[in-house]
Amino acid sequence: MSADTLLTPRPGIMELNPYAAGKHELEGFDRVVVLSANESPLGPSPRAIAAYKDVAANLNRYPDGGSTDLREALARHHGLEAENIVCANGSDELIALLTRAYAGPGDEVLFSRHGFAMYPIATLAVGATPVMAPETDLTADVDAFLDRVTERTRIVFLANPNNPTGSFLPTGEVARLRERLRDDVLLVIDAAYAEYVTRNDYSAGTELVKSGGNVVMLRTFSKAFALAGVRLGWSYSPPAVTDVLNRVRNPFNVTVPAQAAGLAALDDIAHLDAARTHNDIWRPKMTAMLQELGLEVAPSEANFLLVRFPSEPAKNADAANAYLISRGIIPRAVGNYGLPEYLRITVGLEDEVVALVDALKDFLG
Ligand SMILES: *Cc1c(COP(=O)(O)O)cnc(C)c1O
Repeated sequence: MSADTLLTPRPGIMELNPYAAGKHELEGFDRVVVLSANESPLGPSPRAIAAYKDVAANLNRYPDGGSTDLREALARHHGLEAENIVCANGSDELIALLTRAYAGPGDEVLFSRHGFAMYPIATLAVGATPVMAPETDLTADVDAFLDRVTERTRIVFLANPNNPTGSFLPTGEVARLRERLRDDVLLVIDAAYAEYVTRNDYSAGTELVKSGGNVVMLRTFSKAFALAGVRLGWSYSPPAVTDVLNRVRNPFNVTVPAQAAGLAALDDIAHLDAARTHNDIWRPKMTAMLQELGLEVAPSEANFLLVRFPSEPAKNADAANAYLISRGIIPRAVGNYGLPEYLRITVGLEDEVVALVDALKDFLG
């Protein structure tokens, strides 16, 4: 087969760098400590696993294209209207669908300097122009966003809390951003880690959606619910945006096992609470243990820490990444986020955190 081709993809597509997923496997280890992708270390609810297995008998049937039971359960759980919820193949699908529906060539899509990697990918995939607003102290900056809005801006993506920094914007700042944006600019609040935030000046964005201000909130079952493997996310949006999403999505975008597992997971709030409690205990402990090694740890509202390494080549983030992998521990390099001196590390189980800290102690020696 020749590498030459006369086929030409649409502008933007050859510029995008495909998403680099966190690794989960290493050869030569009985047990690998996976701290690279922010799935809850407790794993999914046993009820979700049982529900997944139960539907194996129905795999000949198409799923409910409207994910009706799941949307109704989400609506009850969060106090929302089911008709304004759209379920999808991960929230990544919703990022792509919103971008496709509202932006194209000549349009700008705005996000912060260290914002989630799917935003530039989705933007370039539709031929729109990504625009990055600088951050202050590794945190999205509302004024920097507003400075970069032009008449061509169509969408602003804000991950709150953000991946990979772990930082968050308080409710008042997000409201200020929405107030100052034109009404024909869509604000997408990606609250993938909302379950982990413990601050009382944080909101995942439901009231902003309800107030009708062209805001969409995105949520996922991948992180706190640890169902990343089934691919399940959802949005809550004003009716006009919901209608658009339901037009552009695939009719059967959420599989039978995903709907069943999601529904069962929502019914096991004790398990979700256990994941939160684990994080509440171990996020500060892991932070303190890393700080004791002399490492700088960015404040995090999520279930991972952004850790800064020294600049000398023998002790830098690249070297730490390679060393941890040699010990069977997988962190996440974030050079592609413009953070080459950092690693992002998921808050693991107690023995995983201990293994991480022991390894880093040897590494920094
Ligand atoms: C993990 C993550 C997602 C993707 O979630 P999926 O539902 O698995 O597609 C979206 N946004 C942010 C900020 C994330 O960290």
